[in-house]
Amino acid sequence: MRHIKRRAVRNEGSRFLLYPQPPFLDNFAEPEIVTVSSPAGSIGPGPSDDRMYAIHPVGKELQYGFHTSDGGEPIMYLPPWRGGIIAPALPDEWGHFDHLTPGTPQFETAHLFGTARFALDVWERYFGRPIPWHFADDYDRLELSVLPTLANAIIGWGFLETGVVRSEEGIPRAFSMNFDVIAHEIGHAIIYSEVGLPDPETDNAEYFGFHESAADLVALLASLNFDSVIDTVLRRTSGNLYTVNKLTRFAELGDHEQIRLAANDRVMSEFASGWSDEHHLAQPLTGAMFDILVDIFHENLLDRGLIPPEMEDLSDRLEGDPDYGAVLQDDFDVLFAQNPDGFKMALLDARDFMGTMLADAWRLLRADTLTYVGVGEALKTIDGQMTGGRFRRIIEGNFRIREIGRFIPGPRKPKKGAVSHVYSARTMVPQD
Ligand SMILES: [Zn+2]
Repeated sequence: MRHIKRRAVRNEGSRFLLYPQPPFLDNFAEPEIVTVSSPAGSIGPGPSDDRMYAIHPVGKELQYGFHTSDGGEPIMYLPPWRGGIIAPALPDEWGHFDHLTPGTPQFETAHLFGTARFALDVWERYFGRPIPWHFADDYDRLELSVLPTLANAIIGWGFLETGVVRSEEGIPRAFSMNFDVIAHEIGHAIIYSEVGLPDPETDNAEYFGFHESAADLVALLASLNFDSVIDTVLRRTSGNLYTVNKLTRFAELGDHEQIRLAANDRVMSEFASGWSDEHHLAQPLTGAMFDILVDIFHENLLDRGLIPPEMEDLSDRLEGDPDYGAVLQDDFDVLFAQNPDGFKMALLDARDFMGTMLADAWRLLRADTLTYVGVGEALKTIDGQMTGGRFRRIIEGNFRIREIGRFIPGPRKPKKGAVSHVYSARTMVPQD
């Protein structure tokens, strides 16, 4: 495929030990060594570099964002943290951070930093240039912090704070160890920077849904940049990715949250009478994007002679059919076993094409006028530039299946206990 932007991975990058999925999920229990773009020796204690720094504050109870003083005055609480911190992570003698021991506070800040840096690297490759912070007028660097009193993870004006939630059994789960959550928050920052902040006066439902969808896609494609994730997904499915959410056979993939979220069946008519949670409103768009990725992967398999044309035709005809997986799984099992490396290369190409197409398409969108239909138009424009329109039919077909363009979201409905990012510390800017 033409025009895929790749930035050469610098040999002198810095190594980190990251969990592609939280370590309590059995499928990805082993951390993987990755190299981030910051040259070895350039990352200081924290870790810290020219874009971000990680800290574990001592005695910080309050999260950043809006608070009210004792006298009832609104206060905007913003970084930097000026109090004490737990001893920072230090690089080894060659400038790397993969020597730290899991379970220590230093491993935790290094994991938070390494994940944010890795996700930003992946997307700067897809954009083909550095992505500036949306808060660059006030801060050069993002403050990444561990804040156990926060039951959430939030990116805002100069900060990304990661807290802790408890499992149903009461076991604490730190978001600092959760790749998908951190990458999702970096995704929000990328969209604020590239598409713009929402105008609080215009209540654009599709912008809010798009934001959550894009943040999930940022996390999904970033996680597919781990060798171990690619290998596990292919081994479990034999490349039959379209059926990820449809067969009990793949229930074990359910703990890969980004893939579970992306492989969904939601359609826009479900929201025509109203919506209350932008995470749900995001799902038809995310689902369309995931299916486009899978369809492009199938085209790549066909190009490489790894599946026969009859199988691709059958795959197209059965799309949306409940029997899809059962009909094709045996064929996928046989063909994948013949050339697993070829399947892997086809998926890596589809992944990088998708990332580049999304990055270029997002730059055509504006926050105030954004619609899901407009997202599809932008994708087709970029596909036209990249391939001469080869995937136009795939884009249109998947948007049609999701009923995008046929139904628009109804009015926003209040929902008790809903977690909304729409009016949160994330979108507050100091001039507000
Ligand atoms: Zn979000």
